[in-house]
Amino acid sequence: MLYDNEKTGGDQVITTNLLLLSGCRECHICLQQCPLHKGKGAGTTMKIALNQGCINCGFCLQDCPQKVIGYQDDMELFLQDLARGRQISLLVAPAVQRHFSDYRQVFGFLQSLGVRKFYNVVLRADITLWAYVRILESNYGKPFISSPCAAVTDYIMNHVPALRPHLMPVYSPLVCSAVFLKKYRQLDDDLAFLSPCIAKRGELRQSGNKVRYNVTIGKLKQYIVERGIDLSRYEAVDFADSNEGQGVTLGVSGSVCSSIRKHLPGRLFRKISGSGVYPYLTEYEAALKAGELLPDLLEIYNCKAGCDSGTGTGKMLPGVVPPKAAFGNADLQQEAAATFDAFNSTLNIADFIWPEIKRYDTHGKDRGRI
Ligand code: SF4
Ligand code: SF4
Repeated sequence: MLYDNEKTGGDQVITTNLLLLSGCRECHICLQQCPLHKGKGAGTTMKIALNQGCINCGFCLQDCPQKVIGYQDDMELFLQDLARGRQISLLVAPAVQRHFSDYRQVFGFLQSLGVRKFYNVVLRADITLWAYVRILESNYGKPFISSPCAAVTDYIMNHVPALRPHLMPVYSPLVCSAVFLKKYRQLDDDLAFLSPCIAKRGELRQSGNKVRYNVTIGKLKQYIVERGIDLSRYEAVDFADSNEGQGVTLGVSGSVCSSIRKHLPGRLFRKISGSGVYPYLTEYEAALKAGELLPDLLEIYNCKAGCDSGTGTGKMLPGVVPPKAAFGNADLQQEAAATFDAFNSTLNIADFIWPEIKRYDTHGKDRGRI
């Protein structure tokens, strides 16, 4: 699946999902937070920025006063393929429950369009974090950077090659969900992701199109509003895996570090988010070169308020009050050790390793696919 605006020139591949619409005044406000182009002077225009290694961080989208920056996702193709009768099930980000009054009515509406089943991604975060613990246990002293944030991972892979060997070579909870459902639950449907993130489109492609469509919450809201769809008319449909709860890691604690800290006593963890993560990675690279002490795991996100308020979520719909996060169920956290033990005997960790990252695990050099 190629991007509409993807071009190739020599070995350069341009993969931005951002679009510059008409009406740009060349004020360059959009570039003031751009991780790649801020401070580069008036010669750098938005058009240049989008064509030179854009990581789909979305800061320009939020900052443009003229609102002439848009983005594309896979909503259109997803709807076309449903209408053609393609069998599609939906993987659902936790953010969805925050952006609609009743996510089950959204599922009812999508089911009326042909979506077959709905699966909760946060459940399979348990697999991602189990793999993190296994890798941290067997790599004592090596600092790792978390890899579920697609914008940050893109930044490291394409702009900070020295840090590639430090990215955690494990698929995100989204792709772990796809692998698990297809291989271990024999799900045959094509998969779409109902997503809070513009940048996930690139991750899907880089992880082998195990999930075919990145359908953002923002575009779905826009579709519902523009067509005057009354969600209350639709039957409430729940997750196909709702009887499995919210998992025992991210769905319970809300963060990677707090989920796995107790499995790795004495190890150092740090969590950071927002536009400052990019200059921080420059400092991280310098510290690495100087042999300074770094966290065993750096949990890192492009979006300050985390994925629930990601770049592809759009404005809150009128009348929707986001529920307060309710993390900290200590009983369920106790279950994580037992769950991880069960994974040791039922899952093959190699299924959840991200080859695109793993191949850089020696001194930043490309060692080929594993
Ligand atoms: S902030 Fe908007 S109007 Fe100004 S240069 Fe950027 S895209 Fe153009
Ligand atoms: S999405 Fe981010 S990296 Fe791309 S042009 Fe906008 S600010 Fe720069």
